[in-house]
Amino acid sequence: MSFLQSFMSFLRKQESRLIFKACPRPDRGIVSRFHGNDFSGWKRSLLMERLNQINEIDIAQYFKLSEFACPCCKRVMLHPLLLNKLVEFRAIIKKPIYITSGYRCAEYNQKVGGIKCSYHLLGLAADIRVEGVSALDLLEHAEILNFSGIGFYEKKNFLHLDVRPTKLARWRG
Ligand SMILES: [Zn+2]
Repeated sequence: MSFLQSFMSFLRKQESRLIFKACPRPDRGIVSRFHGNDFSGWKRSLLMERLNQINEIDIAQYFKLSEFACPCCKRVMLHPLLLNKLVEFRAIIKKPIYITSGYRCAEYNQKVGGIKCSYHLLGLAADIRVEGVSALDLLEHAEILNFSGIGFYEKKNFLHLDVRPTKLARWRG
């Protein structure tokens, strides 16, 4: 068998075994979503090790793409305008900004009780928290930076920020 033939037959075998199904069981983690293959024991831990590096890419000073990824499936969408505003925010606040929720796939959004047309589904929104800074102080900065959507969650101490293209939205959670 030539190299190409054996390569192609290997590919065919792989393709029949590795079918990536999108997010049917977010609670079971990403590995369980490879069907027809036995990812148990050492194989599972090797795969997990690789998957844990998914999106570990610096996309700006202080921000990695992985910080915006959906926790259940690691898929991610991120609008550059949102990132730019968060970078500005980081420069003003001079403290680490924790993205508590960035991109969400539809399944995960439903699981966390997000609204159906949430801007998190489009990569236009992020929930943020800053250690030692109140949501009220964050709110002041967010207004200066002119995010088009701002949700103020005083009790839970975080802000929802988004760059929706429609008219300004402000709410209290
Ligand atoms: Zn997901």
